[in-house]
Order: sequence, then structure tokens, then C-alpha cells
Amino acid sequence: MLTVTPIPAFSDNYIWALHDARAAVLVDPGDAAPCMEFLQAHSLALVAILVTHHHGDHVGGVCELAARYRPAVHAPARERIRCATDGVGGGDTVVIDALGLQFEVIDTPGHTLGHVAYYGGGRLFCGDTLFACGCGRLFEGTPEIMTESLNKLAQLPDDTLIFCAHEYTISNIRFAKTVDGANPALLEREMRDQAARRRGLPTLPATLALEKATNPFLRCGEPALIQAVESRLKRPPRDAVEVFATLRQAKDVF
Ligand code: ZN
Ligand code: FE
Repeated sequence: MLTVTPIPAFSDNYIWALHDARAAVLVDPGDAAPCMEFLQAHSLALVAILVTHHHGDHVGGVCELAARYRPAVHAPARERIRCATDGVGGGDTVVIDALGLQFEVIDTPGHTLGHVAYYGGGRLFCGDTLFACGCGRLFEGTPEIMTESLNKLAQLPDDTLIFCAHEYTISNIRFAKTVDGANPALLEREMRDQAARRRGLPTLPATLALEKATNPFLRCGEPALIQAVESRLKRPPRDAVEVFATLRQAKDVF
């Protein structure tokens, strides 16, 4: 049976491990040490690594793990990822025979320009593009580019499980309340996710349905968010991209 386990790394990263009793896939292993510990503790062979983008907290452990386990290393072709064995881009399929897994690669530029997400088996591994109740910072892309990427992800089935790479949910919710504070789904989510964190549990995965109901960056066409942006700009926003850009900027300095 396939299990998905978060391996905590650094202060707030999750390295997702998909595994059965024998083999494992790791998503964005930014640090090799906790991964090796996990693989050894469960006697797992590392058969593949999936990389979403080039930032150090996502790729820092790749070469050490690759040297030791010789997995296939799937990584965005448009970014330079050391020790990658397979460059992937939107529309490609990644097959992991040992675990019977298949992922569709989705181009999700914005946080970085070559960022990709992996979608398969009802799960989305989206790195730093879509977060629980938030989204990644625009280090390389524009609001237009990120909006397009998020719109693409929003079209996946509502029951898609979102596995992002950071535990940012509580602070994301705190920001969301400043722009969408009357949203009952958001307040309900806050209660539930705060309870999870109090018990030391991850708030992930979230469902896409919950993101669509509570994530301000997926709700740029909703009257409440348009109004929040209008009161900041002191004029009506031109379009959903300007709503997104204004929210993202506000979150950057929140
Ligand atoms: Zn990043
Ligand atoms: Fe990151």
C-alpha cells in the first residue's frame, strides 16, 4: 500500500516521501540527512526523486542521495539542477514502475521561471507554487505568469490533495483573514489547522476544494477580495491579475 509521509526539514519544509514497504520516491529533498534517516529506518530503496524548482531548500540533498542510491532524478528541464537524470516540462509523464506511480508534469512558473508541479493518483506536488491558503513569492515571474499557473492548478479535480513544500498555513491564514475575514470557510479552517499545529501535526495535505474556498490567491475574482483590493488601491482593480498582484504585494510585507 502506498503511504505519503512528510519528512520535516529545516524550519518549515516538508520533504514528501511516497513509499510502500520496499521503495520510496522523495519530492524536493532539500536536506539529505533526514531523508537517509527515514529511508534507513524503514529499509526503503530510493527509486526516484522529483524536483519542483532550483531553490536550495528543495535541491540541497539531491546529489548526496543520488550518489548513494542512484535513483532517477526528474527535474525541470528549464532550470539547472545538479545531478538530474531526466529533464521534464509541461505535458511530460513521469513513470515510477517500482511503485506503480505515474505523474503528469505541469509547468507552474512564477515563484521561479522553470517551476513544475507533479500530478498523479489524485495528488499534486506543487513545491512553492500553491501553498495551503497562500502561494509562493514571485522571485522570478510576474503576477500574470503566476496567475496563469494558479489557474491551471485550480482546474484540477476538487478532491485533489495538495502537497506543498512548506508549513506556512497558519501565517497564510492570518494574512487571508485581513482580506477575506468574513469568509466562514476560512474561519473554520483556522480552527482546524490551529488544532492540528497544537498537536504537532502537519496541516497538509489540503484539498483543492478547500483552497478554492479559502485561499485568497485562488479567489481573485470573488467580490470580497476585489473589495479588499479596491480599498487598498482606492479605485477598482482593472482585472483579476491586478487583484492577485495587490494581494501578493500585501502578503510580501505582512
Ligand atoms: Zn522556493
Ligand atoms: Fe521553498
